[in-house]
This record gives sequence, structure tokens and C-alpha cells, in this order.
Amino acid sequence: MKLNNLKDLMIHELKDIYSAEHQITKALPKMMEACSSEKLRAAFQDHLQVTKMQIERLDNVFDMLGMKAQSEHCKAMEGIIKECESMMSERADKSVMDAALIGCAQRVEHYEIAAYGTVCTYAKQLNMTDVMNQLLMTLDEEKATDQRLTMIAEETINIRAER
Ligand code: FE
Ligand code: FE
Ligand code: FE
Repeated sequence: MKLNNLKDLMIHELKDIYSAEHQITKALPKMMEACSSEKLRAAFQDHLQVTKMQIERLDNVFDMLGMKAQSEHCKAMEGIIKECESMMSERADKSVMDAALIGCAQRVEHYEIAAYGTVCTYAKQLNMTDVMNQLLMTLDEEKATDQRLTMIAEETINIRAER
């Protein structure tokens, strides 16, 4: 489909994010299995629930745009998750694996922060305040998750992995 304007581009990006979020809901349970720290597992579990809500929020956004939700396969998220899977297949000390999983999860969050930040900017330019507010809520959740992961890394996991 030819992209004629900023709204077309926004919709294109929303389909990509929709695919990315679905891929994340499949990856997080595997990451929960691979991790040893209860704290980290709880963070992944919480984010799985949040991710499911974010998908519903995207359903709302597509609804607001008068279209049904559509997915366009996000190759970048596929790649990030593939890297994560190959990391999970490495032989590693438990806490070292936990530290590695945080690195994988933060790559996921940073991709999302970039993607949601971009569509928020488009929605703002298009004066679509309701759409923008939905996307901003998710953007804030992704940022909060990223910060929570940094905290868990600095306060426990990285310290354990060092020794
Ligand atoms: Fe998300
Ligand atoms: Fe993508
Ligand atoms: Fe996320």
C-alpha cells in the first residue's frame, strides 16, 4: 500500500507495533522459565499482563481510526527475540543468565520506546488527542519497565553475576 501522508505512516507503524506486542507475549513466558531470580520473574510476569493490556489499547486505537486491528510482521522484534533465544541456549551460571535476560528484555523495551515515541509524535501532529493519550500511556509503561529492569540489575542481579 502506498503511504500518502502522515496518517498512513502512523497506521503502518501501528501494525508493526501490534505484531511486536504479540511476539512479546509469546517470548515473555519463555524468559520467565529461563530466569532464576524471583524478583526478575515477577517483573516479567507483571510486564506480560501489562503487554496484554497494551494490545487491548492498540485494539482501541485501531477502533478510533475506524479500522480493524491489523498486524504487519515486525522483523526487528523477531530478530531481538531470536537473539534472546540464542542467549537462553548458552550455558551460563544462573545469575549470569539472569543478567543476560535483563539485557534482552531491555532491548525489547527500547525498541518499543522508539516505536511508541514515534507514533505519539505522529498522533500529536495529526491532532488525534485520544489516540495520542492511549499511546502515551503505553509509552510510559515501557519506560517504567525499562527503569525497573535497570534497578533490578543494579541492586541485585549484576552484583550476584559479578562473583
Ligand atoms: Fe509493550
Ligand atoms: Fe518493526
Ligand atoms: Fe514492553
